[in-house]
Amino acid sequence: MSKQSTAANPVRLVMHPLVPRLLHVAGIETLTPSMRRITLAGLAPEEPFPFTPMAASDHVKLVFPEAESGEIYLPTVVDDRLTMPEGRPRPIFRDYTVRAHDGDAGTLVIDFVLHRHGPAGRWAIDAQRGDALGVLGPRGSHIYPSDFDQYLIAGDETAVPAMARWLEELPRGARATVLVSVASLAEQPALPRSPGATVTFLDRSVHGTGVLAQAFASVVPGPGRLFVWAAGEAGSLKPIRRHVRDALQLPPSHADIDGYWKVGVEGLDHHEQDDDD
Ligand SMILES: Cc1cc2nc3c(=O)[nH]c(=O)nc-3n(C[C@H](O)[C@H](O)[C@H](O)COP(=O)(O)OP(=O)(O)OC[C@H]3O[C@@H](n4cnc5c(N)ncnc54)[C@H](O)[C@@H]3O)c2cc1C
Repeated sequence: MSKQSTAANPVRLVMHPLVPRLLHVAGIETLTPSMRRITLAGLAPEEPFPFTPMAASDHVKLVFPEAESGEIYLPTVVDDRLTMPEGRPRPIFRDYTVRAHDGDAGTLVIDFVLHRHGPAGRWAIDAQRGDALGVLGPRGSHIYPSDFDQYLIAGDETAVPAMARWLEELPRGARATVLVSVASLAEQPALPRSPGATVTFLDRSVHGTGVLAQAFASVVPGPGRLFVWAAGEAGSLKPIRRHVRDALQLPPSHADIDGYWKVGVEGLDHHEQDDDD
């Protein structure tokens, strides 16, 4: 299924067949003290993996091993619907951005923020070559417009993989302001260079968690059409949502603001955030 972009909604939605895959860790790289890149191998050539340009928010559901047995209970797909394995605990799913894909090598790259508060963060800290991981999706791709006059992109470390994709996939010379909130300046991830983009790192250890919203509100957009994309801790995005609605007065279709995690919430469902989030 594909929904065309229109003048009113410049974001095109393309749906993909739902495919469960069992992959294994083929490479581990330290990106920063709190981020690790994991390359997953084992994509079958007969089931092509959808990797769509200008769809920086493309994500998969990773299926983590069950705590007690260490097994991965991968759901099956019947009539394009997920069926959970019977008589077994519900699989542990978490959403992660597809940072890169190599069709020839049959690999996917996922960049994990490391923390010990949840199963996904812990898995990424402990991962070793050869470890198995389930992957579902991506279910669909939101293909963002590439012809806007300017882009305002903001997020924390969980949004870094998507922001890196924005920088790689925006047309050459596209004007973009990218605001990246990091735990400290010692933890700045390397980001791709894009000739029309300025990237600013914002230090939460000095300025607190509100620094992203403050920096966002201080950006004065130039003339022309503006597209906004922001993701990260849900609470830190609330003032950004309000600013986009009340001060910038952008139509909702010209902004995509998505809470990727929420302090104190396990397995946040990013589809279930209310307007106030
Ligand atoms: C579309 C989408 C794409 C995403 N892409 C990425 C990605 O590419 N890389 C990435 O690292 N994350 C990404 N995330 C965020 C990731 O899914 C969440 O951080 C998730 O909650 C991690 O699961 P967990 O099992 O470690 O923690 P959970 O069990 O979900 O939560 C347990 C506790 O951990 C805390 N917690 C959760 N995440 C973090 C964090 N990042 N830092 C500190 N504490 C945390 C919560 O406050 C909660 O109290 C994405 C989320 C979405 C919705």
